[in-house]
Amino acid sequence: MSGNHANGHHLEEEEHASLRARALESLLIEKGLTSSDMVDRVISMYEQDIGPRNGAKVVARAWVDPAFKARLLADGTAAIGELGYGGVLLAVVENTPTIHNLVVCTLCSCYPSGLLGLPPVWYKSFPYRSRAVIEPRAVLQEFGLELDDSIEVRVWDSSSELRYMVLPERPAGTEGLSEDELADLVSRDSMIGVAKANAPAGVS
Ligand code: FE
Repeated sequence: MSGNHANGHHLEEEEHASLRARALESLLIEKGLTSSDMVDRVISMYEQDIGPRNGAKVVARAWVDPAFKARLLADGTAAIGELGYGGVLLAVVENTPTIHNLVVCTLCSCYPSGLLGLPPVWYKSFPYRSRAVIEPRAVLQEFGLELDDSIEVRVWDSSSELRYMVLPERPAGTEGLSEDELADLVSRDSMIGVAKANAPAGVS
């Protein structure tokens, strides 16, 4: 775990950006240019749909191309660069039938935004940041993910120097799917590690 993201500069910049965003939001609402509902909808779209698409494409490529997957696990930063994504030092950790990985930033909200979009509110919350480390299995259960006791849970602490992304397991029954169809099964939550990739339609 890196202690370097305790660096005050990083926190100050994040707070500054979030204050500016809130000020702008209040102004737009006050002037009748938008509503808080609309803002919530746009934010949720970026959190759930648009934002995580890049990460989903990276995962789908790793599922169909074993050589890319090997490069991705060896050097995440260089491998996502091949697909045109950059600006972040990235480590990718692979879920397997015996290992489940979970990502947190214990200090603030370090997150590979270029791949996953905006971090969800819970990711930045104090309970998630502390409990993910202390009792990851209980946290995963609350997300609806029951893991067998035989599965090892590994927790990774993202920092401003190195951010983590989970490579979820490829779901069963997806042998015939195209890379694009596979990418559609990759949720944001599965790349943080609080969920598995979705099963294809018709497979449970
Ligand atoms: Fe952080």
